[in-house]
Amino acid sequence: MCRTGCKTRDHKTWGECARAGRLNIGYCGIGGVTATAQKAWDHELDMYRKARAEGIQPDSTKLNKIEDAMRKSDAAGAAYGRDFSVAAPMPD
Ligand SMILES: [Zn+2]
Repeated sequence: MCRTGCKTRDHKTWGECARAGRLNIGYCGIGGVTATAQKAWDHELDMYRKARAEGIQPDSTKLNKIEDAMRKSDAAGAAYGRDFSVAAPMPD
């Protein structure tokens, strides 16, 4: 169930693998007193690239959308935007 590019390839689930790949960056660094706007932007771009590397296609390049897509991907065990997306409400 490992993603392409996984270094260890010993993860039981896609989500586990995806989380392991993100351990280095985590969800930190944003909003800290020392974080500059440039750093935040770099972080956002980095997160976006990471998401895309996993096949995830966030709704936008905004960090909250990226994290949202990553969370949904983890929960579903599939890549948001590629394997699934939020379904539009069914018309009656
Ligand atoms: Zn893995």
